[in-house]
Amino acid sequence: MRSFVYESLPGRVIFGLGSISRAPAEVERLGRTHVLLIYDPSTAATAQELAVRLGRRIAGEFTDIRQHTPIETVLAARKAAADAGADCVITIGGGSTTGFGKAIALESGIDTIAIPTTYAGSEMTPIYGITADRHKRTGRDLRVLPKVVIYDPELTTSLPPATTGASGINALAHCVEALYAEEENPITSLAAEEGIRALARGIPASVREPANLAARSDALYGAYLGGAALAVVGMALHHRVCHVLGGTFGLPHAETNAVVLPHSVRFNQDAASEAMLRISQALAVDDPASGLFDFAIAVSAPTSLESLGMRREDLDDAARMAAEPPLWNPRPVQATEIRQLLEEAFWGRRPPPRDATLVHASTNRSSDDRKHAGSRPIHVSGPARSKRV
Ligand code: NAD
Repeated sequence: MRSFVYESLPGRVIFGLGSISRAPAEVERLGRTHVLLIYDPSTAATAQELAVRLGRRIAGEFTDIRQHTPIETVLAARKAAADAGADCVITIGGGSTTGFGKAIALESGIDTIAIPTTYAGSEMTPIYGITADRHKRTGRDLRVLPKVVIYDPELTTSLPPATTGASGINALAHCVEALYAEEENPITSLAAEEGIRALARGIPASVREPANLAARSDALYGAYLGGAALAVVGMALHHRVCHVLGGTFGLPHAETNAVVLPHSVRFNQDAASEAMLRISQALAVDDPASGLFDFAIAVSAPTSLESLGMRREDLDDAARMAAEPPLWNPRPVQATEIRQLLEEAFWGRRPPPRDATLVHASTNRSSDDRKHAGSRPIHVSGPARSKRV
């Protein structure tokens, strides 16, 4: 018998090639007249074009974007909004840029329109994060949820292959953890599984051919579904670990997700077998943990924390911080186990394949799943980049 809780969130999503041209009409629809435009150098040209279309509605801009939304920069962004008399914020960029729109909305309640250009998915969530004193604090507040999200795949063709791969795995991580989250429910699981399929099609093809708009469209659609799933269910061990590594140790968000995900999945594998089966089917791999590791290599994403600049002597502290306060996870977890997970991730060890999953997944996979996840298995070019295995 089914039994679940699902809470839908408000928000309007416009998806399609060229859809950024609809931004002025959306400002009009919201009845707003003073727009603060937020962007970083990677989206400056797009932002300038939009500014021309918005004309007199542009009241100011903020461009000092930093990852993990440090409080000093948040205060500067809030001041820019106040100085401009803004009644609307438009963000054009990745999760870092979206984060500044959220930080402004958290305090002022201003309407935001998000135009994402990576696969971070933050634009769909009421979750914000602000870093102060080397601690990234997150919270949920409906005021930070963008009123409108405009997904235009054309804006993502400039994403370099390495960023595409890592950011794509960040989106995969949202889908994966949504499938075994505490509030997991059939609606978000549908979105999450379809998100994995779309990302499995779109990310490798976008890495090979950055200007391929069909691939970019698949990838962005998958990122949207991952963000939508993340928005309504809580996350688990993987996101807690990444959050500590980013907020306290300054590691880049998407790349850290790419490194940690196979190890989080291996840790949770036996405690979330139904989710693991769905992940395997959607990715068209026999074993989810090693399959995700191979996926990372195939899309030029990093596989070791060492390569991201993490210091081994900080792993004990990171494990301790990730275990406190206690977190919900399908498999109960202690600091010592997180420390072991971090050791594997530090060296970039490929999780060994598990036979039980292999038999289960391959006998249950339909031809339709294979078709959707790409006709070919994920190819690993050359030897795995694992170190000191
Ligand atoms: P990012 O926004 O820092 O972007 C990564 C890099 O890509 C940057 O150098 C940026 O300039 C560049 N870039 C962005 N779009 C580009 C484009 N179209 N072409 C070329 N370059 C481009 O990184 P991110 O991974 O997108 O976001 C990370 C941040 O988002 C973190 O702070 C993370 O905590 C947050 N986040 C929040 C949520 C949430 O729900 N609150 C969810 C996911 C991520």
